[in-house]
Amino acid sequence: MAAQEFVVRASMLQVGSVLLGQLLNSDHGGHQGPRIPCGHHHQADFVDYRTKPLQTILGRVALRRAYYHCATCADTDGRGVIPKDRELDVVGTSFSPGLRRLMARTGGQEPFDAARRDLAELAAVTVDTKAVERITEVVGTTIEALNRTERTAIVTGTVHPIASAARLYIAMDGTGVPCVPRETQGRTGKQPDGGAKTREAKLGCVFTQTTVDAQGYPIRDPHSTTYVGAIETAEEFGPRLHAEALRRGLTRQSEVVVLGDGAPWIWHLAQHYFPAAVHVVDLYHAREHLGDVAKRVFTPHSKESKDWVAARHTELDAGEVDTIIAAIKELAAHAPRVRDEVRQQAEYFETNTLRMCYKYFRAQGFFVGSGVVEAGCKTVIGHRLKQSGMRWTVAGANAVIALRCQLLSDRWEEVWSTLRFAA
Ligand SMILES: [Zn+2]
Repeated sequence: MAAQEFVVRASMLQVGSVLLGQLLNSDHGGHQGPRIPCGHHHQADFVDYRTKPLQTILGRVALRRAYYHCATCADTDGRGVIPKDRELDVVGTSFSPGLRRLMARTGGQEPFDAARRDLAELAAVTVDTKAVERITEVVGTTIEALNRTERTAIVTGTVHPIASAARLYIAMDGTGVPCVPRETQGRTGKQPDGGAKTREAKLGCVFTQTTVDAQGYPIRDPHSTTYVGAIETAEEFGPRLHAEALRRGLTRQSEVVVLGDGAPWIWHLAQHYFPAAVHVVDLYHAREHLGDVAKRVFTPHSKESKDWVAARHTELDAGEVDTIIAAIKELAAHAPRVRDEVRQQAEYFETNTLRMCYKYFRAQGFFVGSGVVEAGCKTVIGHRLKQSGMRWTVAGANAVIALRCQLLSDRWEEVWSTLRFAA
């Protein structure tokens, strides 16, 4: 039956595009009299009606529009004024807003060529891969601009935050995005020659928690996670995450927990933007550091090694970080070959002591792992931007990240009620 379905769909779309064409052309081309303001403080004269092909989700329609020309502007900007293009949000593009929405949504979720194929299969729309890429980037860039405006409004108090939850979590992490050579030139990284092939994208998650399970472990509120992120410096990322926390109801009264691994930028931001919050270093990263110490000092998988790690895990759960630091330093003293590396690990625990009060955190029913943001790095960034063979420009990657944050924060619909594009 599939063949018949596709045939019927094709004819319905044909009818649809005719109806849409009639609807869009039922307004006398947006003619507004012989002269209209050009937008630059002059008058533009009506010249004639011009038709442009517009690709829509129902197929192609020929759009008839009144064309005006400003003689004064003509010197600087040869283009005329077409009120109807503005009204329909199709200035400088031959794709309708509805089609742009589909292109951006699919392009944000899968490689551009796969998106092109899905648009053909799912929506019977034929566009080329490059167009999907371009529209996805334009939409992503526009979303980012919208977010910037929203951040200003939030910080100045002109936007009302979502009702504050009992307990707000703010988690951050970084993940590498493979970039084209010109974006990584002169940067240090993990390549054999000391160079970099990736740029770090920073991702922030905000979520809420109201209950714990029977064992006292916290349960994240369903659908409460929102994301913000970009390839940018910590200085740029801080205000982005702070505004999102405010939007999600951060107040002086709310109980706030910041989660992250040991990366210094995370705790600098936490100290600056969320000084009153409880700061928690991911328990599993702390355990990894203990494993690293054991690996350097003991024979791998030996009983001695396992016993040492097990004892430290118990101390970690009990919040006895000072005892852990002493134990690591003692190991360092007896292992001259790896002394410096082991001492560095002791420093990690010294720096983060107050962020490792796991016994207290557990008693409060707090999350002690940054799993949500690590999973976020995979879903928001990894799945779309880190597939094999991909190489991004920072602008392109940031557009897709902005778009995906919007989608995965369940704020996609909001975009389309407010946005007007120039594509
Ligand atoms: Zn003018």
